[in-house]
Amino acid sequence: MRALQMVGWKQQPELVDVPEPEPGPGQVLIRVAAAGACHSDVHLIDEFDTGLVPFEPPFTLGHENAGWVEAVGVGVDGFEIGQPVAVYGPWGCGRCHTCRQGFENYCETSRPVGGGLGRDGGMAPLMLVPSSRWLVPLGDLDPIEAAPLTDAGLTPYHAIKRSLPLLRPGSSVAVIGAGGLGHLAVQILAAMTPAKVIAIDRLPAALDVARRSGASAGVESGPGAADQIRELTKGRGVDVALDFVGSQETLQLAVAVSRTLGHLTIVGIGGGTVPVSFLGVPYELSVATTYWGSLPELQEVVDLAAAGHLKVHAQRFTLDDALDAYDEIRRGTLTGRAVILP
Ligand code: NAD
Ligand code: ZN
Ligand code: ZN
Repeated sequence: MRALQMVGWKQQPELVDVPEPEPGPGQVLIRVAAAGACHSDVHLIDEFDTGLVPFEPPFTLGHENAGWVEAVGVGVDGFEIGQPVAVYGPWGCGRCHTCRQGFENYCETSRPVGGGLGRDGGMAPLMLVPSSRWLVPLGDLDPIEAAPLTDAGLTPYHAIKRSLPLLRPGSSVAVIGAGGLGHLAVQILAAMTPAKVIAIDRLPAALDVARRSGASAGVESGPGAADQIRELTKGRGVDVALDFVGSQETLQLAVAVSRTLGHLTIVGIGGGTVPVSFLGVPYELSVATTYWGSLPELQEVVDLAAAGHLKVHAQRFTLDDALDAYDEIRRGTLTGRAVILP
């Protein structure tokens, strides 16, 4: 079968022929319905190098996957052939303290790897999932539409969930970068909190998607953005800022619009930094990074989508033009999420 693989660091991925995988004991083979193209792949392709992550090419890209069960290995029960499933992405040891809590994204034994990140991912017709533990049944959800839930949905879901106590009536939240993750962050916030959602992006089309996703205001990034956001919050600033870009510019904006006792979550890996000092940030502003989300949280995201609260704005690509999807992400012209249908 053909697979879009990372063949070396700082090299364009290539479509290569690989053998069809077969499921061993406890494993499940998935026929991939869709694999999301994440901005992290662009960082991985363009910027990553030996030593930065605990894995090396070659491996098949695609860490945001859903499909249908194609075959199961010995000892797997509870799944039927043809059943639609979402694949939980960060594959931990399953036994350490954080894995036991469902946070396999923070496995203590190693920085977790997963399909599309060191192991073969979903940008191929078939994908081997080493444990049935990482499959979440999709019920009536279409796996093509559901694939982005596993990262573009799950990552903001976790970031939002940990800040829920701050998102009360009268609160406001800034979603900086209303792209793949950001437009779903807006929908999750609208479904789960009474907070006023302010989306910030440099792309007017992304702000349109954000407004249609439930944002009450869209602000174009640039020199006037901080003042506009202050005005929208009656001068108080936002209770929670979620930065889905993470560049120097966006982090500066996030701090400039944050209020005392607020919280800033850095999700985007844009390479910026936040200098934290006594007079440099609002009093009691907390700052955290988050990586992906937990296995139970993926179930909650799927349930939220099944209840009709999440609608992925998806642009479809074939395996042959997957590199065009990454180019669009690189150029900053894509809205919503690009999904590859292998
Ligand atoms: P994306 O390209 O789909 O979306 C990014 C959005 O930010 C785009 O709409 C773009 O126009 C906007 N943007 C870019 N620069 C901006 C600026 N200066 N001001 C305002 N808006 C700006 O990307 P994505 O797939 O949603 O990923 C977002 C970021 O999150 C990436 O850095 C990605 O690597 C990272 N990521 C992190 C995790 C995690 O677990 N922490 C998971 C997935 C993705
Ligand atoms: Zn990702
Ligand atoms: Zn673990």
